[in-house]
Amino acid sequence: MRKKIVAGNWKMNMDYEEGLSLFSEVINMVHDEVTGKQHVVVCSPFIHLHSLAHLAKGYNKVSIGAQNAHQAESGAYTGEISAKMIHSTGAEYVILGHSERRQYFGETNELLAKKIDTALKNSLKPIFCIGETLKERETEKHFEVIKTQLEEGSFHLDAEQFGKLVIAYEPVWAIGTGITATSAQAQEIHMFIRKEIVKKYGQEVAENTTILYGGSCNAKNACDLFGQPDIDGGLIGGASLKSRDFLDIVKEFN
Ligand code: PEP
Repeated sequence: MRKKIVAGNWKMNMDYEEGLSLFSEVINMVHDEVTGKQHVVVCSPFIHLHSLAHLAKGYNKVSIGAQNAHQAESGAYTGEISAKMIHSTGAEYVILGHSERRQYFGETNELLAKKIDTALKNSLKPIFCIGETLKERETEKHFEVIKTQLEEGSFHLDAEQFGKLVIAYEPVWAIGTGITATSAQAQEIHMFIRKEIVKKYGQEVAENTTILYGGSCNAKNACDLFGQPDIDGGLIGGASLKSRDFLDIVKEFN
C-alpha cells in the first residue's frame, strides 16, 4: 500500500520563533485529531529544520523536509546547503523541482536529476515536483511537458531508487492563485503519471509510488481531490501556514 502524505511547504515564510510555534500547534493537533494512516511532512526553511526534527521525535506520523538542496556533495558554493547537511538535522524529505525554483532560479530537468541523485545518496527522500504552465495547458502540451519532466528528471534512476521518490503534480497555474485543478483534471494527470511509471518500472513500482497534488488545495476541495484513485495526498503551500487550515486538510483522509 502506498503512503498517503500531506506535506506543507512553508516557502520563505516564518521567522525562527514563528516556525517553532506553528509546528508545535501542528504536531499537537496531529497527535490529538489524526486517526487515519496519513503521514504529515512539514517542509520548512533551513533555519528551522534541526529544531523541528527535534520536536517531531516520538511523533511517528510527522516528518520534516527541506525545500531545496544543492547538487554537489560539498565545496565552495557560498550560501548553499548540501543534502548531507539537511540529513544531519534529522530531516527526511526534500522538495526538489518546485516551480518557483524552476522559474526564479532557472532549475532545469538536467540539474534536478543531479539534485535527486545527491539527495538519495544522502538518504533524503525527494518530493519531486512537476507541472505545466497555463500556456502549456492552453496549447495542450501538458501531457508532453509532464512526461519530459518525469523522464529527464527521474527516469535515469533504477527501480529501487525511484521507489524512494514522492512525485508531486503541481500545475503552475494553480499554485498560489486560488484556482485549483478540478479533481477530474488532477486525476487525469495523476493517472497519466502512474501509467508512465508502469511503462518504465512496472506495475508494482507504480502502484507503490505516492503521487501528491499541489495547487491551491484547501479543506473545501481536499476531500474531492483526495477521493480520486491516483491522488495520494497533497503538497500544500498557503494553507500550511495556519495550523487549523493545514490540519483540516490532513483530516480529509480520516
Ligand atoms: C506550493 O507552493 O507547493 C503550493 C501548492 O502552493 P499553494 O497551496 O499556495 O497553491
